[in-house]
Amino acid sequence: MDNKQDVLPQDQSCDILLTGGAVLTMDAEAKIFEPGAVAIKGDRVFAVGEAAQLNHLSAKRVIDCSNSAIIPGFVSAHDHLFQNAARGLGEGVDFRVWLPDFMMPLAASMTRDEVRAAVTMAAVEQARSGTTAVLDHHYAGTDVETTAAVADAVESVGLRGAIGQGMGREQPYPKKEQLAIAAAAIDSRPAGSKVAIWPTPGDIIYNDQDFVVSAVELARSKNVGWHTHCSQYKTDPDVYLAEHGIRPVVWLGEAGLLGPDAHIAHMIFLNDAEVALTGESKTGVAYCPVSHGVFGLGTIRLKDLVNAGASIGLGYDGAVAGFRNDMFEQIKLAVIIQRLETMDPTESGPQQALEFATRGGAEFLGIDAGVLRPGMLADITIISLEGVHMTPRPAPIQAVAFSAMSTDVKVTIVGGEIIFEEGSCTKVDEENVMEEAQGRANDLIKRLNLPVHINPSR
Ligand SMILES: [Zn+2]
Repeated sequence: MDNKQDVLPQDQSCDILLTGGAVLTMDAEAKIFEPGAVAIKGDRVFAVGEAAQLNHLSAKRVIDCSNSAIIPGFVSAHDHLFQNAARGLGEGVDFRVWLPDFMMPLAASMTRDEVRAAVTMAAVEQARSGTTAVLDHHYAGTDVETTAAVADAVESVGLRGAIGQGMGREQPYPKKEQLAIAAAAIDSRPAGSKVAIWPTPGDIIYNDQDFVVSAVELARSKNVGWHTHCSQYKTDPDVYLAEHGIRPVVWLGEAGLLGPDAHIAHMIFLNDAEVALTGESKTGVAYCPVSHGVFGLGTIRLKDLVNAGASIGLGYDGAVAGFRNDMFEQIKLAVIIQRLETMDPTESGPQQALEFATRGGAEFLGIDAGVLRPGMLADITIISLEGVHMTPRPAPIQAVAFSAMSTDVKVTIVGGEIIFEEGSCTKVDEENVMEEAQGRANDLIKRLNLPVHINPSR
């Protein structure tokens, strides 16, 4: 293949031509074209190469990307978009107090309109941060209509992804009914929908083994992925061991539940055997560095998981856990907290963190994106490389991974559709979304009458 471009298009026309910037393809060779160009036709990437070789293409729209980076859109590999309603509450509270005393009651009491408002607000913030796809674990209102409303809200902003149908001991329905609801929720999105629904047993540690097996069997029978949390808190493996006589990830392996269709958040407290099982099976791991730091949870064994073969994505884990839906913060901290743990700056770096946020996340979510190559989905982010924090400008990878922030995102494109540009989301009225999100969050918090240690004052 020609080193200077990925394709010589026979067809001379495209819909959108992004030209003049540094094109970070995020492919396996870490190819960069500068100045480069990306041509989009329909919902796919049509051509990628040096700008001089693609500028002859006739395009319905040309976007000048000078002094910018063009990269695959970010993927949030683990989220709770509804938690946007509670941003700022419960700061500094231990996770195993925060979850039962605050988040579970809040989730159980949210109305569908409150959920819709919070999810739409979170999706707007993520689109503004260059995020193009999200895997959301939804457990605030787990009837089919509310889960479908979450999927609709995400789609209304223009993002793609999957919504996890919350399932588990804490849900108000018996296990059999939960499985039936999950089946109906999955079926409510036609095959090929931009936003799918997956079964999501809440946490391996706190769910019955037979129920987790049934949820995974449901996912496999419907040909969708499944999502869960595992080994997030320091006592989780011991709690599981005491109840089941086996470590949680060892059980997942023995039960045949690991694999590329398993998408598991956190996985912090793994022993060597569990790391090996996760890697060999190509299981997806969602690394949520900001959440891990905010809650003081711990540091995942990143190098070991990567070397073992696990597929790694980065997740926001909800705005309560990180205050901001800012993927640049996740990317930078993904590296920094590893270096604090290992005291070695050579083991992880900006290229790898950007790969997690793009190619890794797309692989994790099972979507045909994350790399700028002809034929891939045109999920693309354009990031300004100008400004005081970019002067003098570092090399493009370091500039995007370490210098850039959400406010540097100029354009976000999902499936060839521009969903954010010139400072605003294009598919929703941001002012209305913000006003409703604030009003409904105020109603919710007032109604909940939260304990003082959660700090309900806004
Ligand atoms: Zn989570």
